[in-house]
Amino acid sequence: MPESPRTKRSSTARQPPTASAEERLVPYRRKRDFSKTAEPSSEHAPAALGNRFVVQRHRATALHYDLRLEAAGVLLSWAVPKGPTLDPDVKRMAIHVEDHPIDYFDFEGVIPAGEYGGGDVIVWDWGTWELADADDPIAAVADGNLHFDLHGSKLAGRFALVRRGKPGGREQWLLIHKHDDDAVAGWDPEQYPRSVKSGRTNDEVKTAGGLRRYT
Ligand code: MN
Repeated sequence: MPESPRTKRSSTARQPPTASAEERLVPYRRKRDFSKTAEPSSEHAPAALGNRFVVQRHRATALHYDLRLEAAGVLLSWAVPKGPTLDPDVKRMAIHVEDHPIDYFDFEGVIPAGEYGGGDVIVWDWGTWELADADDPIAAVADGNLHFDLHGSKLAGRFALVRRGKPGGREQWLLIHKHDDDAVAGWDPEQYPRSVKSGRTNDEVKTAGGLRRYT
């Protein structure tokens, strides 16, 4: 039986490197009541081996951007309160959160108030990603050090995600853009507010509202 969606907010991102996609999605499912939210329940997680990435702009209790990297049949996920930037001189805090199912990739819509993550979500950017200087993304996450290239509509170039402090619990990482040809000083994600999927803003998705999925 599902537990209360608002219990166990900590210790959900940490997974043993050997966990299967099904095992990795247990915390995701535990937090949500799929009779109330339109988010995918992903009962049968596909064994996808793709390399897509997505960033969702999510106005929950607090605005944040969710960076998700497709790997090993799940979406590895970080919540970035101030959003990603192409500015190489800015470090952005990123909270490592629970792996999400592959079919969360293009989720855009409204999560009902009172449910876990209640608020509106747009697909703010998407594209593909490549791990740099390593070949096992799950091991890199376990090591707390991930260097990768993004090929998106808004985001591009080399990024690093680096864990601060000890592993476990609600891990704080830093998201940093490297100095490269795609770096742009002063780049602000809030200046690019529209969905790459639908062209909508969060406000427009919220106004359309309800439990609709925009597919
Ligand atoms: Mn979120």
